[in-house]
Amino acid sequence: MRSVSVLGITGSIGQSTQEVLARHSENYEVNALTAHQNVDLLIEYAHYLKAKKVVIGHERHYEHLKESLSGTGIEVAAGREAILEAAAEPVDWTMCAITGMTGLEPLLKAIDRGGKIAIANKEPLVAAGELVMKRAQESGATLLPVDSEHNAIFQVFEAQNREAITKLIITGSGGPFRTWSAEQIAKASIEDALNHPNWSMGQKITIDSATLMNKALEVIEAHYLFDIPQERIKVLIHPQSIIHSMVEYVDGSVLAQMGAPDMRTPITQSLAWPERMETPGETLDMKSLSDLTFEQVDYERFPAMSLAYQALEKGQSACLVMNAANEIAVQAFLNNKISFTDIVSLAQDALDNHTAMPLNSLEEILEFDHDVRAKTERAILDINKNQKAA
Ligand code: MG
Repeated sequence: MRSVSVLGITGSIGQSTQEVLARHSENYEVNALTAHQNVDLLIEYAHYLKAKKVVIGHERHYEHLKESLSGTGIEVAAGREAILEAAAEPVDWTMCAITGMTGLEPLLKAIDRGGKIAIANKEPLVAAGELVMKRAQESGATLLPVDSEHNAIFQVFEAQNREAITKLIITGSGGPFRTWSAEQIAKASIEDALNHPNWSMGQKITIDSATLMNKALEVIEAHYLFDIPQERIKVLIHPQSIIHSMVEYVDGSVLAQMGAPDMRTPITQSLAWPERMETPGETLDMKSLSDLTFEQVDYERFPAMSLAYQALEKGQSACLVMNAANEIAVQAFLNNKISFTDIVSLAQDALDNHTAMPLNSLEEILEFDHDVRAKTERAILDINKNQKAA
């Protein structure tokens, strides 16, 4: 019996994790489940998974949560502090799936306590990868990447032959605008951008997949997770999303991990690691292998891609800037405040105006992140003013 906690159980990754845990319930004992505000789903999962404890982020849901679970013996708590406490409780495996930068502090709490940490949320690795990796080294925690590309690399990365690795090749589907012209992309609507061909995911990451900012974030994520310099991290468009990434070695061997485009595979892999167990998700239909294609990234139509390399060239603080500006810009696009191409322009401007600086602690990171977000919000107001004037 292994003990597990899931931080962010009601999001897209959390729901898939729930399915994997439900399938293998005889092997796992669920300690804590946390959610931001989807209290009804949290209650449902608390019953299904026989959790010891549940925490809801929004305190206004506390009474409802408490009443609904009264008599079950399930412990109930609410608020940010309670989420951090739940993250710090000792378990064998923690899924960190709280979206965006709000996930950073709970992730660090889990890392400090050691054990196996499944990381599904890429923003903390992009904005604070140095700190995250340092803390994992100090506590001895094992980081298990769940992002499908990094999970793939993890599976074919021979740590003992790290010097022989010549390239990490991150694949990407190219998103819904892979075949669109620059003019069409400039006019893309929210519905167009949310219409991802292969993956069903949360809204933020789906928009990032349309701009290819998701791949840009993944290049940075790979750099920090695997400690490979950016010149040796490449992106290749692979519309079928069957090969999830590859590692090239000096002897010419290229090791790839394949699977159906289904997040339940990387989640199952990370939960069972270092062993293997059955996925409740889809498995690969071998007939689909007759038609695998690959294309180079078009940096003209997808300028987000080059931002990753510019940011890594400048350093950790620039990676934070790119991530924070993008997160605010995506929200503004979803709220109909800016156009699709404004998203990457805002991130580019933020990066151009940034001078690299050291960020040594969680407090410094969070404060600087807050500043970049406020600045980006002001830039968005300027865009809106100019539009009205025009
Ligand atoms: Mg990914």
